[in-house]
Amino acid sequence: MKDFLTIIGAGLAGSEAAWQAAERGVQVVLYEMRPVTRTPVHKTGNCAELVCSNSLGNNLAHSAPFILKEELRSLNSIVIASGDKNSVPAGSALAVDRDLFSQEITSKLSNHPNITFKQEEVVEIPQEGPVIIATGPLTSPRLSEQISKLIGQEYLYFYDALSPIVDADSIDYDKAFFASRYDKGDADYLNCPMNADQYYEFVRELKASEKVSFASFEKAIYFEGCMPIEVLAERGDRTLAFGPLKPVGLPVPKTGRIAHAVVQLRRENRESSAYNLVGFQTKLTYPEQKRVFSMIPGLENAEFFRFGAIHRNTYINSPSLLNNELELRSRPGTYFAGQITGVEGYVESSAMGLLASLSAVAKLTGSHYVAPPVDTALGALINYLTTSRSKGFQPMNINFGLFWVQEMRIRDKKLRNQKIAINAIEKIKLWSEGHPIPVH
Ligand SMILES: Cc1cc2nc3c(=O)[nH]c(=O)nc-3n(C[C@H](O)[C@H](O)[C@H](O)COP(=O)(O)OP(=O)(O)OC[C@H]3O[C@@H](n4cnc5c(N)ncnc54)[C@H](O)[C@@H]3O)c2cc1C
Repeated sequence: MKDFLTIIGAGLAGSEAAWQAAERGVQVVLYEMRPVTRTPVHKTGNCAELVCSNSLGNNLAHSAPFILKEELRSLNSIVIASGDKNSVPAGSALAVDRDLFSQEITSKLSNHPNITFKQEEVVEIPQEGPVIIATGPLTSPRLSEQISKLIGQEYLYFYDALSPIVDADSIDYDKAFFASRYDKGDADYLNCPMNADQYYEFVRELKASEKVSFASFEKAIYFEGCMPIEVLAERGDRTLAFGPLKPVGLPVPKTGRIAHAVVQLRRENRESSAYNLVGFQTKLTYPEQKRVFSMIPGLENAEFFRFGAIHRNTYINSPSLLNNELELRSRPGTYFAGQITGVEGYVESSAMGLLASLSAVAKLTGSHYVAPPVDTALGALINYLTTSRSKGFQPMNINFGLFWVQEMRIRDKKLRNQKIAINAIEKIKLWSEGHPIPVH
């Protein structure tokens, strides 16, 4: 074991990781390949460059993204501090002046006495730890190859395929019914039956809806098992009814008859507070998802915890590979952080940088590390990454469907979210006492 921490990638996660370790007195060697070697989307050589939107997401009190930001604020996150300092008016979102934001982070990291900054592409994963791999959704091809060798190519993915997730409380249970096909096993699925008129209208709107086009560096490569729902619909009006919406083996309890089509929803968590629409990976724009998927009987008033998407990405099958310290089980001392772990979003990626760093720092300094409690946003993300089903594992952003808390049973949503938020922020403050930053 070396006496310094190697971090590969100075994006959102790598920058946060470097800052957290350096502030705790640990020597860091931080590698960033830009601007010498470029990615298809980054434009500068700055650390923590925001590649697309300049928004760090919702900052509305007690929303799930707000809780995550508050937890990071209390942990002295460089990303959130720089976001707050360089914010621009954006309603309830925390939007930033992207140049000032990343310039400030770059300056703080490159002037930090504990950080050695190296502008080069890493093409081999260092044998000796601790090392944090934080190379993001556009990890360089040469390093991707090494990661693939290290973990097995079946555990590394280059595209995601996300189905929308809805709040269980917003589903109309007069229309949706629990059953498993042919009554096999427990009634684990929630089924939304459609008659022929509803089905064909749905297919028509799906085909006519506005879609997000692929970026120039993305290719429309689809695997048969994760074909966008709208692409399947284009194959023929009856395709969905014989595919993901097939109604066979699912008689509607009220009539005892088989519907024309059935949309199946699967539990997203143990508390059954969130459901995903099975087979609904899509490139419809978010407003169109809301409009078209709300045509599904039972989902007229659905609230979406997450919308569906398909993008170019690089991520690993974390549930199979990582422990709850974000460390590779097969090679202790090697950590993953950021979007490559299977989180989605600037702040979520930064959060995973922070946690990987604290756990690597604990290893280097011989101190004790425990993952954050599951009823915090940070803990909920770690829990998702490491305890989800590994089969079909897909990236996730922070949302209330991930929180594993008693408060989810409170009916009044405002009160429920407030209680979750207060509890989570308190818990993180307590937890952070185990990972103090020495006074300089
Ligand atoms: C096109 C696109 C648009 C996105 N838009 C948004 C958005 O609007 N909002 C949002 O919340 N999220 C968005 N994301 C998702 C994601 O949150 C961001 O990509 C985020 O930057 C991920 O943080 P990260 O630290 O994991 O990766 P990055 O921020 O990408 O950082 C990884 C760093 O590693 C470097 N690197 C890669 N390979 C090597 C190597 N071999 N050696 C050395 N350095 C290397 C890269 O140059 C990069 O600086 C988008 C993603 C993509 C691809």
